[in-house]
Amino acid sequence: MSATDTIFALSTAPGRAGVAVLRVSGSRTAEAAEALSRDVLPRPRAATLKRFRDGAGAVIDRGLLLWFPAPNSFTGEDMAEFHVHGGRAVVQAMVEALAAIPGLRPAEAGEFTRRAFDNGKLDLTEVEGLADLIDAETEAQRRQALRQMEGALGARVSGWRTRLTRLLAHQEATIDFADEELPGGLDEQVQAQTAVLADEMAATLADRGRGERLRDGLSVAIVGAPNAGKSSLLNAIAQRDAAIVAETAGTTRDIVEVHLDLGGYPVTLADTAGLREIAAEGDAIEAEGIRRAKARAETADLKVAVFDLASGPNPDPATWALVDAATVVVWNKADLVPRSAAPARGGLPVSAQTGQGLAELLQRLESEVSSRLGFSTTAPSITRARHRHALEEAEAALRRALEAGLPELAAEDLRLASRALGRITGAVDVEDLLDVIFSDFCIGK
Ligand code: GDP
Repeated sequence: MSATDTIFALSTAPGRAGVAVLRVSGSRTAEAAEALSRDVLPRPRAATLKRFRDGAGAVIDRGLLLWFPAPNSFTGEDMAEFHVHGGRAVVQAMVEALAAIPGLRPAEAGEFTRRAFDNGKLDLTEVEGLADLIDAETEAQRRQALRQMEGALGARVSGWRTRLTRLLAHQEATIDFADEELPGGLDEQVQAQTAVLADEMAATLADRGRGERLRDGLSVAIVGAPNAGKSSLLNAIAQRDAAIVAETAGTTRDIVEVHLDLGGYPVTLADTAGLREIAAEGDAIEAEGIRRAKARAETADLKVAVFDLASGPNPDPATWALVDAATVVVWNKADLVPRSAAPARGGLPVSAQTGQGLAELLQRLESEVSSRLGFSTTAPSITRARHRHALEEAEAALRRALEAGLPELAAEDLRLASRALGRITGAVDVEDLLDVIFSDFCIGK
């Protein structure tokens, strides 16, 4: 397997479809395009109708051929695209025809993008943005991914790195030259600018993980006593039978999740086991369920506490103990009591059964979620733990540089900060990361 092989793959999803696109990248692309079309290459980047033939000369299909000579292609190499009808047999025959051409081999997952990165077409944050765009399921995720793919985060980080390089040069000048040979106040300038950089990084880090959570989805835990109607509510919200609704108390033994799109934001809503005090002889499985429910409630970004309005106006104490600022309080089974029977301590009356109050609950959840994941239009977000770690490392190094007694030590810290930033965009030592990042892609990307 070599990075100089010419690779090919089906780039559209496998299966039946109107159109299928096969891509080829590498030095033998022109040969492959000529062999399949039995014709000279078309004009660069112009869709041209061709008949594609197998090795024996039989027509496989009629379709479009696009030719992208290097370096103006996605990978930076010579590339071609074959747009054919999306039938399994058509695709299979095209794949076989390409495989039969000497020097061509099927691409590995993410190999096209890997070549784009190796050829400097994309930095690592742009690669990740592209992966996220392919995975994006909601509007806010799509916007964030697109922005990162277009280089917003990479540009920010590279900008910091460029400024750091200048600071480092100045810092080194203070080591190499005597004071009288240097412009006055250079030391102070380096210090001041280092502090500004560190503060900018700190501001980006102080986003409460918004970018990462937008990528993963905000976690919302539904908590409440057994039979309060948690699974019914989850089902009513998800509008599908995701959780088991049962008559006997404590049958929801584990966490059941549904993934929702709330106003463009991704949310994972989890129904947790009922919070009931276990008798001494209590059911071990249920006890485990409750332990998990509590753990889940504690780590959730947001909680929905469900109380049973039919069982009286006072909330169940075990559940009430979990209510905090990040909790939406809901009184379920409002259909069983007169409309005037208001809950004792506020909260939304709803009915999972009739749907009463659900629109208000969803609206409330949507506003809670958007206030947590709200898209920043000014600064690009960091979207992965690896960005956060590297940025934290860079900021810490800058703070150390500010405290360093000796200019040599300060210079070393500035170098470390620059390295940490370089890892975010893939400018320095990221070999170990690459396989992980590119293996997330599908074949053909
Ligand atoms: P969980 O243990 O909290 O998950 O509760 P379930 O969702 O399993 O509901 C317990 C029982 O209450 C079931 O018999 C449901 O049909 C019933 N129930 C749930 N929500 C409502 C509601 O809004 N109104 C009425 N009348 N019954 C409900």
